[in-house]
Amino acid sequence: MRVYLDNNATTIVDPHVFEEMEPYFVQKYGNPNSLHSFASETHPALKTAMEKIYAGIHAPKEDSVVITSCATESNNWVLKSIYFEQILTGKKNHIVVSEVEHPSVIATAKWIESMGAKVTYLPINHEGLIEAEKLREVITDKTALVSIMWANNETGAIFPVYEIGEICAEFGVPFHTDAVQAIGKVPVDVQALNVDYLTFSAHKFHGPKGVGALYIKKGRELTPCFHGGSQMGGYRSGTLNVPGIVGMGKAMEAAVDALDFEMTEVRELRDMLEDALLEIPDTFVVTPRNKRTPNTILISFRGIEGESMLWDLNRAGIAASTGSACASEDLEANSVMEAIGAAEDLAHTAVRFSLSRYTTEEEIEYTIEVVKKAVERLRGISSSYAYAPEGHESGLDAHH
Ligand code: PLP
Repeated sequence: MRVYLDNNATTIVDPHVFEEMEPYFVQKYGNPNSLHSFASETHPALKTAMEKIYAGIHAPKEDSVVITSCATESNNWVLKSIYFEQILTGKKNHIVVSEVEHPSVIATAKWIESMGAKVTYLPINHEGLIEAEKLREVITDKTALVSIMWANNETGAIFPVYEIGEICAEFGVPFHTDAVQAIGKVPVDVQALNVDYLTFSAHKFHGPKGVGALYIKKGRELTPCFHGGSQMGGYRSGTLNVPGIVGMGKAMEAAVDALDFEMTEVRELRDMLEDALLEIPDTFVVTPRNKRTPNTILISFRGIEGESMLWDLNRAGIAASTGSACASEDLEANSVMEAIGAAEDLAHTAVRFSLSRYTTEEEIEYTIEVVKKAVERLRGISSSYAYAPEGHESGLDAHH
């Protein structure tokens, strides 16, 4: 049996999405900006797809949704544009990000810091959550941007973006949120939220890879991402990725349609897996279930390197993740677990299981069986587990 439980990394393309994209490779391949029928036959599908994308996040017509190549591009674009317009010009000198943003935000923030700006890395608490009120203590009149993700890719922790948006609005500071892990998992409505920029990526919700987007509220215009032929309202020049946009449109529609299913059935399967894994002694989950996206579990198995667990799982056909960069000689701790201040042996033993609407009960039953065997085998050969002192501190609250 092959079981895919790494949906926070990427997802299977929904067959209906693929079907809708297919004609735009070989049959209707015209450049939409050309002046002939090959071009015009792409227009209806592009229009429909963009309408679906706008509808999916409740964006009003006057706001912009710019299709990019990925969320990494969207995140880089917002932060760098703010740097060029606000910081390099000397108007402002500070940005705020959380300490557990995706590398596409963290690494960009570090670059901005290296250029001389101040960056505040807002900490997470022992449950892996951001406390919105902490933002008040760090915003200054020189703050150019707050960028805090909606849902964390490692733990699934849902951050208080509504409160954060309100605080930003109160201080008149633009707010960007990376909503990559939120689309299709929680309702996303840019009008219900005080948000100026919002990033998402099709391949995380059963759409194609290589298609991301950035929502931009009217009045919060950015420096163009690419200068050139003025596609995408002049924001991002370059020939449009017609099949990709069509795919994102269909995937967004399907994700919105499946939201209830995700929040009930997928959550139930996730909880079934989590309940069973927490029956194993010395296992820890950081963020409480009701404060997480419905599909994600980050669980530590004391005494077992996350990578060793992944090898055992992979041999049994199961795909999961440690969420940490892995160099062959240097096993890195999970960055979120480190940020929480978890004991090192737990930070190194975290494994992420992320489900999707395609996950079945049989797959979960099989996974439970395989994980239990793997824990027994790996703890049997683990010197650190055998010699773990009595009452050894985890640094964490266990959520059993
Ligand atoms: N932001 C978050 C929260 C993510 O989980 C990811 C992907 O792992 C990204 C950004 C980057 O997405 P993309 O692969 O579209 O660049």
